[in-house]
Amino acid sequence: MGKLFGTDGVRGVVGFDLTPEFALRLGRAIGGFFGRGSRVLVGRDVRAGGDIVAGALVAGLLSEGVKVYYAGLTPTPAIQYVVKNEFYDGGVMITASHNPPEYNGVKVIAGDGIEVPREDEVKIEELYFKGHGSSLEWRSLAEPPEGVTGVVEKYVKAIVDQVDVDSIAKRGFKVVVDCANSVTALTTPLLLRKLNVRVVSINCHLDPLFPGREPEPRPDTLVDAATLVVSSRADLGVGHDGDGDRAILIDDMGRIHWGDRSGALLAAYASTKWKSFPRRVYTGVSSSVVVEDYLKPYGVEVVWTPVGSVTIARMMKSEGGAIAGFEENGGYMHVPHQYVRDGAMKLALFLEVMSSYGVKSSSLFSKLPEYHTIKTKVKASREEALCAIELLKERFSGFRMVTIDGVKVFGGDFWVLVRPSGTEPVIRIMGEASRKERIEEVVAEVKNIISLCLRGGGL
Ligand code: MG
Repeated sequence: MGKLFGTDGVRGVVGFDLTPEFALRLGRAIGGFFGRGSRVLVGRDVRAGGDIVAGALVAGLLSEGVKVYYAGLTPTPAIQYVVKNEFYDGGVMITASHNPPEYNGVKVIAGDGIEVPREDEVKIEELYFKGHGSSLEWRSLAEPPEGVTGVVEKYVKAIVDQVDVDSIAKRGFKVVVDCANSVTALTTPLLLRKLNVRVVSINCHLDPLFPGREPEPRPDTLVDAATLVVSSRADLGVGHDGDGDRAILIDDMGRIHWGDRSGALLAAYASTKWKSFPRRVYTGVSSSVVVEDYLKPYGVEVVWTPVGSVTIARMMKSEGGAIAGFEENGGYMHVPHQYVRDGAMKLALFLEVMSSYGVKSSSLFSKLPEYHTIKTKVKASREEALCAIELLKERFSGFRMVTIDGVKVFGGDFWVLVRPSGTEPVIRIMGEASRKERIEEVVAEVKNIISLCLRGGGL
C-alpha cells in the first residue's frame, strides 16, 4: 500500500506532484474518513497554490457530504485551537510548514485539535489508493461551504488569557518578529500589541514567494532578524516557520537558540506555575541532554520520544499529560493551552518568564551549559542503518541508552544519537560534549562502526 503522509502531514511540490487532481482525490479520502455530516474547519497558510489546493480539497470534502467551514489564512495552531474548543469534528490545514517555498501540503487534524494519529493516516491512505468516492444524492450536496471569521482573534485571546498580561505589559518590552512572510503576520504582532510590547517586524508582509528567507527558522535563516535585535536594542527576537507552530528565539545579544534550549527554560518555569500537571516533559531523542541536566533540579522528568511532533503530542496525551512537550526545531506545546506546537504561545510564555524573573533574555539562556555540537550524516540504506545501530548498541552496552528511534547513548561526558532519517537514505549523527575533542573522538568512532555495515565498504 502506498504512503502519503510524512512526519507531519502530506507534502508535495505545487504543480508537480501536488496537483488539483491529487488534492481533489485526497479531499474525498479525508471526507470519507471524517464521514458524511461531519463538520470540518479548513484553513491555509500563505503558500503559492494554497487557493488551488483548498478549492480542490474542499470540493472533495463537499462531495463526501462533509459540512465545510472555511477560515482562510490562519496559522495551524489557531485552527487547532478552534477545532478543539468549538463544535468541529476535525480540521484540515493547507500548509507545508517549514519546507522550501515551492512545497505545499495538508495536515489533517482530529477533533481534539491534534494531528490525526498514524493509524488514522493509514485509513485515509487506504481510502485514497482505493479511489474512494461516495455517490450522494443531489439533495445531500446542497450545503455550501461556510466562511468563518474570528479564528485569529479567538486564538490570540486564548494566548493572552494564558499569561500574566500585567506583569509583561509593565516591562514595555521591544521584540523583533520575523514572520517568514506567512500567516504569523496576522497573529504575532497582534498578540504582542495586546501585551504592550513594541514590535519591530521583518518579513511580516504576506508573500507566497517568501522573498525574505526560507520558511524554516534556523540560525542561518534568522541572521537578518538577529542583526535587527542587536541594532534596535530589542529585548528578544522570534522567528516563526510558515504555519506558525514553531518559534526560534533570539536573545538580546543576537544569539539564536535551538528549541530544546528554550524548551528547557520554559518547561522549568511552567513546572513552578502549573503545579497540577504531571512533572514531566516529552521531547524527541534529537534534543540535547541539556534538557535533562537543566530540569532535574526542578524535579521534572524527561521522557524521550521518537522524533516527530505528532508522536510527542499523542504520547503525552495518552500517558496522562505533562507540563510540556517540545522539539529542538522550535516546536513547543504548552499543555495548559493545547497539546500541539504553538509558536505564538511559546513567545508569550517566554516574555512572562523574562518579566517574572526580571531578567534579560540573554541571562536566561546563559543559565544553560554550553556544549560543542556535531550534526552530520552518512549515506546509507535503511538496512545498513539498522545494522550500524545494532553494532553501536553492542559497543556502548555499558552505557545508559534510549533505543526508541535509532540509538541515543548517554556517555557521562558526551551524548550521541544515531538514527536513520525518516525522509532520505541517510544515517543522522548528532552529539554533544563539553570538550570539543571529546565529541569529535566519539563521532569518529561512531563513523568507523557505521562503515562496517556499508556494503560499498568504508567511508
Ligand atoms: Mg510548522
